[in-house]
Amino acid sequence: MLRGHSAGIAVCACVQQLYGARVHESPTCIPTHPLTQLYFCEECYALRCNDCIDWEISSTYCPSCLFEVPGTSVRAQKSQCARNCFTCPVCTHVLSIVGSDPPRREALTAPEASLGIAPFFLSCSCCRWDSKRIGLVAEKAADLSAVFHSMEQNAWPMQEYERLIEHMAPEVQANIYERTRKTRSSRRFRPNLVRPPPSNYHADYEPTRSQALTKYASRLSRQCGLVQRDMMQVSTVQQRWTMPCEQPYQVTALHPRRVRLLCKLSKRCSTCRHILVRPEPRTNSNAYKIKLLASQFLPSCTVMPSANGLWTLTLTNPLMDAMDITLRCVGAELSIRHVQVPAFVDAFEMDDDDVAARGLAPVTPNTGWDAFVHGTYVYRHHAVLSVRVRADMQVLPLEIQWSVAETMRSHTFWSLVPLR
Ligand SMILES: [Zn+2]
Ligand SMILES: [Zn+2]
Ligand SMILES: [Zn+2]
Ligand SMILES: [Zn+2]
Repeated sequence: MLRGHSAGIAVCACVQQLYGARVHESPTCIPTHPLTQLYFCEECYALRCNDCIDWEISSTYCPSCLFEVPGTSVRAQKSQCARNCFTCPVCTHVLSIVGSDPPRREALTAPEASLGIAPFFLSCSCCRWDSKRIGLVAEKAADLSAVFHSMEQNAWPMQEYERLIEHMAPEVQANIYERTRKTRSSRRFRPNLVRPPPSNYHADYEPTRSQALTKYASRLSRQCGLVQRDMMQVSTVQQRWTMPCEQPYQVTALHPRRVRLLCKLSKRCSTCRHILVRPEPRTNSNAYKIKLLASQFLPSCTVMPSANGLWTLTLTNPLMDAMDITLRCVGAELSIRHVQVPAFVDAFEMDDDDVAARGLAPVTPNTGWDAFVHGTYVYRHHAVLSVRVRADMQVLPLEIQWSVAETMRSHTFWSLVPLR
């Protein structure tokens, strides 16, 4: 965006319904989103935000080996990768499987000298932690996962967890029955809905108490000439949370963890169940099959200061069809209310000769009220008009109604443009 420009932020249909007339009466306290963070439902012809859509798991995969895990196996695997994917207990880096050094018979430059032999173990290339110190070794590289599984099954937390599942089974069954009953009575309730995972887990707890103590101890040692090496052997709170049952005090007692599975999420309109976002199912692709962003449908608007308390408002059409726009502005005066914005032109297809032949030139920020023929100036897929606002206005509330001749449908939304 150019310097001095400010882009309009749209009001979702759910916010509009909730706040009603307050959207334009007190626009500074209305929750808004940029058009790139909103979705447009083609069935309802309405804006949707992350608060008024349904989330569904599209596919589950391991972020380390990119293996896609079927939905039916996720619960059995406790949302962890069942293959040889482990994270370091000290630094959470992904561990690699390495073999032990062969006996020194050949020269170090011989190819045999670089081949690892049994026993195989897990090693961290980042902090040099290895699984030999906790006895996690195997004769074959592929068996490490099975050895870890048997170690895990024999540990008391897992046994306690299994007993708990057994104890709570009747309760879970009763809940499932209740849930199915509710689903039948209320169509809006869907049991497989999920919320997006928190982006920064445990972020509020930084820095940990142990880290703070370490810093304090190092400062103390600097001041008093003491050496506090033991603090490095004490696990941090975050490291202890990876083993919530044991919470070992010593770093040496920490065990590696299996890599947690991630999922790709689909988004649906909660009113008509139309798909708004569907990612590509292949785990090695971050493309989307469907992504109905509002910025691909709705006209965007930007303002920039002009002369004598005037502002230049630019409307941009993202569609491949000409768009009819009707504006309504509360507390400000517009140079024109209806405008037809031509279809979107790709930057590679722009013909500057055509523009020069018609005697048009790009708009400068100081273009005044009288500079626009009939109050507007249409340029490629933009329409430029002037707005006269009150001196005390901080936000310009614009009600934009747009329609395309082919669809015969029109949509109205509020765009709040900050004036600064
Ligand atoms: Zn919403
Ligand atoms: Zn994996
Ligand atoms: Zn490590
Ligand atoms: Zn819908």
